[in-house]
Amino acid sequence: MINDFNFVQPSSVAEALEALSTNDGVQALAGGTNVMVNMKRAPLQTECLIDLSKLDELKTICEDDDCIRLGAGVTISELLNWKPGGVVERLMQPMCHAFAGPLIRNLATVGGNVCDTSAAADLSPVLLALNASVELQSASQGSRMLDLRDFFQGVRKTALRKDELLTAITFARPDDDARCFYYKLGKRKADAISIVSIAMILKLDKDIVSASSIGLGAVAPVALRAVAAENTLKGAALNDDTISAAAEAAVSDSSPIDDFRAGGDYRRQMVEVLVKKGLNAIKDA
Ligand SMILES: Cc1cc2nc3c(=O)[nH]c(=O)nc-3n(C[C@H](O)[C@H](O)[C@H](O)COP(=O)(O)OP(=O)(O)OC[C@H]3O[C@@H](n4cnc5c(N)ncnc54)[C@H](O)[C@@H]3O)c2cc1C
Repeated sequence: MINDFNFVQPSSVAEALEALSTNDGVQALAGGTNVMVNMKRAPLQTECLIDLSKLDELKTICEDDDCIRLGAGVTISELLNWKPGGVVERLMQPMCHAFAGPLIRNLATVGGNVCDTSAAADLSPVLLALNASVELQSASQGSRMLDLRDFFQGVRKTALRKDELLTAITFARPDDDARCFYYKLGKRKADAISIVSIAMILKLDKDIVSASSIGLGAVAPVALRAVAAENTLKGAALNDDTISAAAEAAVSDSSPIDDFRAGGDYRRQMVEVLVKKGLNAIKDA
C-alpha cells in the first residue's frame, strides 16, 4: 500500500538543495529503481520526495586528460554509450553490460547506485578501484569532497547528511599503461544482483607490482577495497606465489553473509578464485 507524500520537482540543483533544507522527512528520487521497489514493499518513511530526474546539471560527464567527473544523474545506459578509452572504459563497459537489463539501465543513475549503499551495487567496486571521491552539496555549507571509502559507513549507512545531495563522482584517469580486470558473478548473466563482483587496476614495472587497487562487492556490509590483498601485491613480482598470497589475503579482507543468493563460504571461495583469475589475466595481458 502506497502512503501519501508530497512530490517536489525542482528545476535546478540550488532549488533541490533548498527544498532539502527546508522540508522535514525528505528523500531524493533519481531513477526510482530502488525507491519505487522499496515503496511497494513498505510505506515510504519520508513525507516528501524530491525528483532529481529533470536536473540537467546532474547529467553531464566532464573529462580531460587527467580527471573525470560523472554527474550523479548520469544513467547506466549513458555510461554504456560513453567511450572514455583506457582502463576506465575497460572497467565501465563490462560493468554496465552486466547491470540489470536495458529498461532498468535507462533509469538507474550513478548517484542512486552509490547512495542506495547496497553492498552489491555494481558501480561501487569499479569506483573504489578508480580511487573515486564523491562531491556532496548542501544549501547551507556548499560543496565538500569525500573519498568514496569514507562515504560508505555501514549497512545502508552513508556519510550523506539529511540536507545534502550527492552531485558528482570524480576520479583521476589511470595511466595508459595500467592494466585492469572486472568480473561480476551472479546467478544469471543478465538481470542478476551480484554474488561477488570485483574490479582491479594494477601498474606493473616489468613484472613488479608498483600500484594496485582492488574493489570488492557483495562480500561485506559495504563494498570495500581489498587492502590486505593490495599490501601483499605492493612491490612483489606478479608470479604464482604472489597471486595465491594476494587471493588468500583478499579472502581475509571480506566478511560475507549467507543469503538466498549464496552462502558466505561460497562467496569467500569465489573471492579467492576471482582474485586469482584477475591477477592471472593481468599477468598475461
Ligand atoms: C529489476 C532490477 C534490477 C536491478 N539490477 C541491478 C544490478 O544489476 N546492479 C545494481 O547495482 N543494481 C541493480 N538494481 C538496483 C538499482 O537499479 C540501482 O541501485 C540504481 O543505480 C539506483 O539508481 P536510481 O537512480 O534508480 O536510484 P533511486 O531509486 O532514485 O534512489 C536510490 C537511493 O539513492 C538516493 N539518491 C538517489 N540519487 C541521489 C543523489 N543524487 N543524492 C543523494 N541521494 C540520492 C535516494 O534517495 C534513494 O535512497 C536493480 C533494480 C531493479 C528494480
